[in-house]
Amino acid sequence: MPARLTRISDEQEIRIGDEMAQRYVAEIEAAEAKDPKNGDDRLVEAYVERVGRKVSLYAQRKLPYRFHYIPDPNLINAFALPGGHVFIGRGMLDLMTTEDQLATVLGHEVEHIDLRHCAERVQLEAHMRKLHLEEINGLVSVPIDLFKTGYSKDQELDADRAGTRLAMMASYSPDGAISMFRMLDKVCKQETRTARTPQQEVSQLARETLKGYFETHPQPEERIEQIERLERGSETPIPAQRRLDTNVMAVLHRDLQGVVNETPSRVLQ
Ligand SMILES: [Zn+2]
Repeated sequence: MPARLTRISDEQEIRIGDEMAQRYVAEIEAAEAKDPKNGDDRLVEAYVERVGRKVSLYAQRKLPYRFHYIPDPNLINAFALPGGHVFIGRGMLDLMTTEDQLATVLGHEVEHIDLRHCAERVQLEAHMRKLHLEEINGLVSVPIDLFKTGYSKDQELDADRAGTRLAMMASYSPDGAISMFRMLDKVCKQETRTARTPQQEVSQLARETLKGYFETHPQPEERIEQIERLERGSETPIPAQRRLDTNVMAVLHRDLQGVVNETPSRVLQ
């Protein structure tokens, strides 16, 4: 990071993020033209929004946080764009069993925004392209991929800690984060054909999307350790994890068997 960069304003960050999100959603919708979001997808999206709103309420920066669901079973990923947009792929939700897991994943992404990690990327990009921050038009063409891959190790650990804290403030259990790290680690290491149950069996393609999300992050042991420290330091009792909403579970698991054999054409990169 260069020593001194002009700080992007909240207003600029929101505008850039909104344009990027709009562009990304349009791309997804074009890819989904044959298979548009149905009632089931909207039910899951409303749930993601509900949990996301609860968690983002406690963020330091009062930005318009918005939560998007991408109903692609091969997308085991979640990421944040500047200004408040958080995206989560169906592949990630398919792996979850508790709302606490969802809350901590969304909390982590909210914190990449709250802690200005996304804004710093925009600033850095502007700096590299020798653009003034006023030249918003040049900045909205910032590639989305820049935000889909992980951040520095310290930033990831910061987002874990702050994101789990947000989830805890919204009465979720930090165990959601721990069980999620264990799950993602297992999926990363899993061989293609050794899985026993549909839920464990994740396509090679889906694992590729997870690599960008998880393998660039710090080691799971280190991530788990700091969440355990957070848990020990908690002044209030740690609540038990709650299962994912039953209706959402039903929707996600109804055709999970089909996910395994799905053709890989719908993956988003
Ligand atoms: Zn992250």
